[in-house]
Amino acid sequence: MASMATTDAPPPGGRPLLNRRLTEFGTTIFAEMSALANRTGSINLGQGFPDTDGPESVREAAVRALRDGRGNQYPPGSGVPELREAIADHQRRFHGIGLDPDTEVLVTTGATEAIATALLALVEPGDEVIALEPYYDSYAACIALAGGRRVPVTLRPRDGAYHLDLDELRDAVTPRTRLILLNTPHNPTGTVLTRGELTAIAELAIERDLLVITDEVYEHLVFEGDHIPLASLPGMRERTVTISSAGKTFSFTGWKIGWVTSTPELVTAVRSAKQFLTYVSGGPFQYAVAEALRLPDSYFRELRDDLRAKRDLLSAGLAEAGFTVYRPAGTYFVTTDIRPLGESDGFAFCRSLPERCQVVAIPNAVFYDHRAEGAPFVRFAFCKRTDVLDEAVARLKRLTP
Ligand SMILES: *Cc1c(COP(=O)(O)O)cnc(C)c1O
Repeated sequence: MASMATTDAPPPGGRPLLNRRLTEFGTTIFAEMSALANRTGSINLGQGFPDTDGPESVREAAVRALRDGRGNQYPPGSGVPELREAIADHQRRFHGIGLDPDTEVLVTTGATEAIATALLALVEPGDEVIALEPYYDSYAACIALAGGRRVPVTLRPRDGAYHLDLDELRDAVTPRTRLILLNTPHNPTGTVLTRGELTAIAELAIERDLLVITDEVYEHLVFEGDHIPLASLPGMRERTVTISSAGKTFSFTGWKIGWVTSTPELVTAVRSAKQFLTYVSGGPFQYAVAEALRLPDSYFRELRDDLRAKRDLLSAGLAEAGFTVYRPAGTYFVTTDIRPLGESDGFAFCRSLPERCQVVAIPNAVFYDHRAEGAPFVRFAFCKRTDVLDEAVARLKRLTP
């Protein structure tokens, strides 16, 4: 029967189906680990999504937009004016950055699409793209889709936290470097780049005439120090594409509303790619996010304070369970070293953890080109209810007799 084709038969077209640029990436670890969590009834501290939805008023705003017929048909390609204005006002209110909502703001389908479209728009085949390693998993795949060559600069643990080596960054720049892809606050390490580090990056970008794409989706989840947008530094506005999103800030990761802010020229370039990928992004949600961005300061403060307490709870529990803990200054995640537990292979450890104590985590090695560099490190998400974290800690303590 035709439907019983064996795996020995050549695929239709006579060559591997998946194009060569993507074969190295396979399926993301998050799918494997979330399936494992479901199968074993484990607490899933793998993927970074909150287990409690964002503000009720924002949810209601989305319902109202749907009912009132706002955004149910193709919204404008740049995003609805209400949201573009709210994004511009947000950048002024929190970061002192002035933007023209008509020419300097582009709404995207999450930060994920913003990253993809910015890279597709700005990278020519053969261009080198410097990215901080360990990196968010879509970076490598999108650089590859754009035909670019990724050049990792590795953050390393020292004195209880991860740090960027500025000399290494400088040395990574070649005549073929097109751009630096930055992420601060940084997933998975929780590093928040300081003003000094950002100033050095800015000087390098200006000196070598590089563009910078900066992923700032955790801009409001900073527990230590301050988030400083690279675009706010002198001379950086004209060469920086800033990306953020509603998912992490408002605990609606399923809504997929993100945005790009930059100069009119760079926004136009990114929009040129976006128009042929999704054309427009989720209409009614855009109106809801416009309202969310205007929530009072107390909302943003409480979100941060709540997550800080959860960071402290999980970090203390992991330390008691025997892990070395790298205290994150921001984000949803804490990175640990499993070697004090007598383990050295994060992959094997994460695959066995559900059996051993019914908790799921992510091996940091998946975020590295140099997998060996990341081998003994494992990431846990703390954007979960306190009772869930308490239970996870109790289970993890069973690892040490
Ligand atoms: C979650 C995340 C994203 C994706 O954001 P969406 O708005 O959900 O597409 C991008 N970058 C980093 C670093 C993230 O952690």
